[in-house]
Amino acid sequence: MIGWAIIGLGGMGTCHVERFVSKLPDLIKICGEYDIDPETRKTADRLGIRAYDSLEELLSDEEVSLVTLAVPNDLHRDLAIQCMKRGKHVISEKPVTLSLDDLYQMINASRETGKIFTVHQNRRWDEDYQTVKRIYDENMLGKVFNIESRVHGSRGIPGDWRNQYVKGGGMILDWGIHLLDQILMLVDEDIVSSYCKISTVTNEEVDDGFTAMLTFGSGLRALVEVGTSNFINLPRWYVQGQNGTAVVNDFSVSGEIVKVSDWEKRDAVPVVTAAGLTKTMAPRTEDTIRRYPLPEVKPDILDFYRNVVAAIEGRETQLITHKQQIRLMKLVEALFRSAKDDVVIHERI
Ligand code: NAD
Repeated sequence: MIGWAIIGLGGMGTCHVERFVSKLPDLIKICGEYDIDPETRKTADRLGIRAYDSLEELLSDEEVSLVTLAVPNDLHRDLAIQCMKRGKHVISEKPVTLSLDDLYQMINASRETGKIFTVHQNRRWDEDYQTVKRIYDENMLGKVFNIESRVHGSRGIPGDWRNQYVKGGGMILDWGIHLLDQILMLVDEDIVSSYCKISTVTNEEVDDGFTAMLTFGSGLRALVEVGTSNFINLPRWYVQGQNGTAVVNDFSVSGEIVKVSDWEKRDAVPVVTAAGLTKTMAPRTEDTIRRYPLPEVKPDILDFYRNVVAAIEGRETQLITHKQQIRLMKLVEALFRSAKDDVVIHERI
């Protein structure tokens, strides 16, 4: 049994207790939580867990060997280093931290102390992503040349610490970090160029959305987009291969795959508009295509914590590695640079 504690019992900290760790009672014992806001004691009471009076009290508890950090982004680095130096293994919430320099300090602390240090990139277990991964890995569309991954909301950037620059706010570090991590895990190639435009519709201090265009070594393109002023959403995923297209509309994974059934049948019923007619852009007739349901996937989010425990016990290697996090943070920094200077970053990542 691994003794576990959470630092930060806000939205995500509560989720760690309720939805993840309490579901693994045979592997993990919940020792308690520490949050700087005394109001969160009510949440601790509701969850039936101990509220430590101070960070020091939590760190001194020898029963605690693993700590999850679910505090605002600017606090991850120092708390992670402090926890590792006090003998705790650490899971940091995403984004791991705010810069590559910070990340190297955290990794050094892990090396020096021999403690596991990993990041909660939980959206690797999302069904929409796993569906696209299956389509891509099993080559269901033929050679893929374009992947578009978007999340859209219409409520602007949240009004909490997420709209403050010093707290590590902004959508690149919030949702972007999930979508970029997914793309890096999906496509097993180097990125050769990156370009990014940010939006500041609802907040001038940090980005409230962005569009990034990534090009991989083979020429495959990926568009990654987060929007918070979208009253009509574009599909969550749109993937084009030489023989077909897949669309995943939303988190509930509605969508389909459409593949060509007969390349020879190129004849089309022209679309007539006031300005003329087009065959090139006419929709395909049903006899030249086949429609397929999306493949079914059943990822288990609890595998994240199972893996961390197994890594602590030396039974498995950690799934979310330092190398992956370094690459992800290099990409994030490239996108910030691209957006700031309005340039394409020609850097192998
Ligand atoms: P939140 O504001 O709801 O909660 C943060 C909590 O941290 C608050 O209760 C606050 O009082 C506490 N806190 C602040 N400073 C502290 C300190 N010095 N010591 C102890 N507690 C402190 O924020 P949230 O939405 O729960 O986000 C927390 C972290 O989780 C962020 O890094 C965020 O990016 C991440 N997050 C991840 C996901 C995911 O899907 N992986 C989803 C949401 C949030």
